[in-house]
Amino acid sequence: MSNIKTIETIIAPPPPHMVGDGFRVHNFFPNNVIDKKRMSPFFLLDYNSKVEFTPREEPRGVGVHPHRGFETVTIAYHGQVAHHDSGGNSGVIREGDVQWMTAASGLLHKEYHEKEFSRKGGLFQMVQLWVNLPAKYKMSPPKYQEITNSMMGRYDLPGDKGVVEIIAGEFNGVKGAASTFTPLQVYNAKLKKGAVLEMDFPSFYNTGILVVEGSASINNTAAPADHFVLFKNDGEKIQITASEDTILLVLSGEPIDEPIAQYGPFLMNTWAEVEQAINDVSAGKFGVLED
Ligand code: MN
Repeated sequence: MSNIKTIETIIAPPPPHMVGDGFRVHNFFPNNVIDKKRMSPFFLLDYNSKVEFTPREEPRGVGVHPHRGFETVTIAYHGQVAHHDSGGNSGVIREGDVQWMTAASGLLHKEYHEKEFSRKGGLFQMVQLWVNLPAKYKMSPPKYQEITNSMMGRYDLPGDKGVVEIIAGEFNGVKGAASTFTPLQVYNAKLKKGAVLEMDFPSFYNTGILVVEGSASINNTAAPADHFVLFKNDGEKIQITASEDTILLVLSGEPIDEPIAQYGPFLMNTWAEVEQAINDVSAGKFGVLED
């Protein structure tokens, strides 16, 4: 009897599309392969694989748009993003840092390359993750968690073989930085060539790994750069050997077993709630933000 999690599929990066003019993303889910509930509580994974942006005076990005009913988590591997919202909040997400934004009841925001980064141009690599909220928290007040790299939990592998940065959840007794509404784990496993790492998640947790850098053998299967490994809900253990210097984004969480009604940036339980969200935006209830 083995309690190894079986790999269900390893997905190559789908053809990218632009979000605004600043993010060139591969959408790993939700789509025809991984549906809206398959990775719950994670609803969406957009991956901006490495791309070189040419210098530009006017920063590229995404203009003013609303969100309601969930959280957006932006993980910066290369490059810098500035954000502004209708609550008057603003900030910069820098290389190695994470912004965990609870949109919940709703806000308007815009996301652009940081001015100085835009001016110089350079390598850009980011993840945006949407984390669903259960019905009882969908209308909570919006909030931010600016998680700089030094705030993350750190589990150092023995023998200087790398580090697991715990963004949310817990790993080997080390707690993550983010507070979350439901039980979930988000790690950056930064492994040196030959590093061996074992992780355990409950079998009913939905679990996946994005290979952000390098490549690894995961449960004895080759996982190349920019691929997403989806696990079946059948075991607990994941065994990883880094084939080279590697960065893995590890996602695992307890599914939220509620209906989903999603339209664009609104992630609710019913279509009436989506309609309400659209009406509330028109009525100015999400506040005001200039482009
Ligand atoms: Mn957004």
